[in-house]
Amino acid sequence: MDRDPSTRDIVQQLLAEEAPSFLVNRRFLHSRLLVYALARFSVAGAMAFGAWFAGYVVGIDGLPRTSLYVLAGLLFLYSCLVFLFLYLRTWGSGASHHQLTAVMHGTIGIDFIFLTAALWHIGGAASPFASLYILHIILAAMLLSRIGVLLQSSFAYLLYAGLVLMQVLDWFPPHMPAGAVLADMPMDARYAATLLTVQAILFMVTGFLVSEIAAALKRGEAALRELNVELKQLSEMRRDFLHVVTHNLKAPAAAATMLLETVENLWAVDASESARAAIHRARMRTQELGDLVQDLQHLAALESGALKKEEQSVDLNDVVRKLLTEYESEALRRKQSLRAVMEETLPGVRAVPRLLYEAAVNYVTNAIKYTPEGGTIVLKTRRDSGAAVFEVEDTGIGIAAEHVDRLFGEFVRVPAEGSGARPPGIGLGLSIVKRIVEHYRGKVYVRSTPGKGSVFGFSLPGDDNRIL
Ligand code: ADP
Repeated sequence: MDRDPSTRDIVQQLLAEEAPSFLVNRRFLHSRLLVYALARFSVAGAMAFGAWFAGYVVGIDGLPRTSLYVLAGLLFLYSCLVFLFLYLRTWGSGASHHQLTAVMHGTIGIDFIFLTAALWHIGGAASPFASLYILHIILAAMLLSRIGVLLQSSFAYLLYAGLVLMQVLDWFPPHMPAGAVLADMPMDARYAATLLTVQAILFMVTGFLVSEIAAALKRGEAALRELNVELKQLSEMRRDFLHVVTHNLKAPAAAATMLLETVENLWAVDASESARAAIHRARMRTQELGDLVQDLQHLAALESGALKKEEQSVDLNDVVRKLLTEYESEALRRKQSLRAVMEETLPGVRAVPRLLYEAAVNYVTNAIKYTPEGGTIVLKTRRDSGAAVFEVEDTGIGIAAEHVDRLFGEFVRVPAEGSGARPPGIGLGLSIVKRIVEHYRGKVYVRSTPGKGSVFGFSLPGDDNRIL
């Protein structure tokens, strides 16, 4: 059974000396042949129209118009057959590569026969239309192997030589419509020899040069595909590595933070000021390490397609309710008021719930961190024409306009007004929010006034809007 080649198969096939063509992709070949089949219809039309135009408008005498119309009709019928074959083969298992190659050789050969027949009607071997052979050879050389091109060029040359001979021997001489060709130009043996020599060189050199270009493209394509395979492997390795590292770092970081917290709160109560400060710093740094590991873990989770099956319809109001419960005490400790304003019916959002929750947590913890005592933090949800919006509004320190644009970049921390000191943290949180939200085709935004407060939000397309 014919199957689509894997990338590795294609690379190997391409790298092999005798690869059938640089366009080994079956589907690409199929579509190319369909395009050529459609182009053939226009050639049939052009032939009929050209015969009419040359006779009636240009005034070319002696043009066998009826025969040309019949030829155009035959070309049309033959185009229908080719098109039908290719079109019907688009369904089901499709045509195999061998079948397509056979169709390609067959149609190119038949095209040459049609061209020769048309030439016989419009001046024979010396007709200016004879250069159309070259066009066909170029098209053939783009699709066929070198041997295929050699065979087709030789076939075209034989047909052309046949025309020359017919004229020289005056056996079945072609039509010589005045105006399309120099009607009284004799085809003697010397002129025939000149034509045959020049055309032999032209046919072969064109075929050779275009196959060379096609082969160079083939090699370039092979190299690119190989690089692509390598890049994919590297990317998978990096993802696995990130997964293993974060997994193994998470537990020790959490344990160390807990231990240091216990030391700080229980055992270090009677210790000297400097010892307590050192323990506190150690706890903060370990906490940061834990946060970094958690951030990296979310990134790894987002990249792995494995999470797709965990997606479900999420109600952002549920997220807000959970946030209120989780962060109520922390806000209270900092004497902040934390409340919610929710729109009753929100569109569901298709996502992995814990990732969406993590994105929202980032906004809330930042708001708590950057809002002074006595401040207010409001969590809001609303519907915005099919999308669900989540917002955290705070009355915190705000962010200067020049920093707002780059806030969602990686490792961005805005220095505090006045002191210029960098805030704690590593500046990955908002970039992860952005990645998560954009992964679900949503948008993040921020509005802020220094000294007054900020609004951080994201909107996500509702379930109904998803293309399934
Ligand atoms: P981190 O992960 O280190 O907390 P983020 O990416 O979450 O970093 O935030 C980046 C920077 O944006 C912070 O260092 C802070 O300066 C600023 N910022 C974020 N949220 C707020 C906010 N609600 N109010 C004021 N500044 C904020």
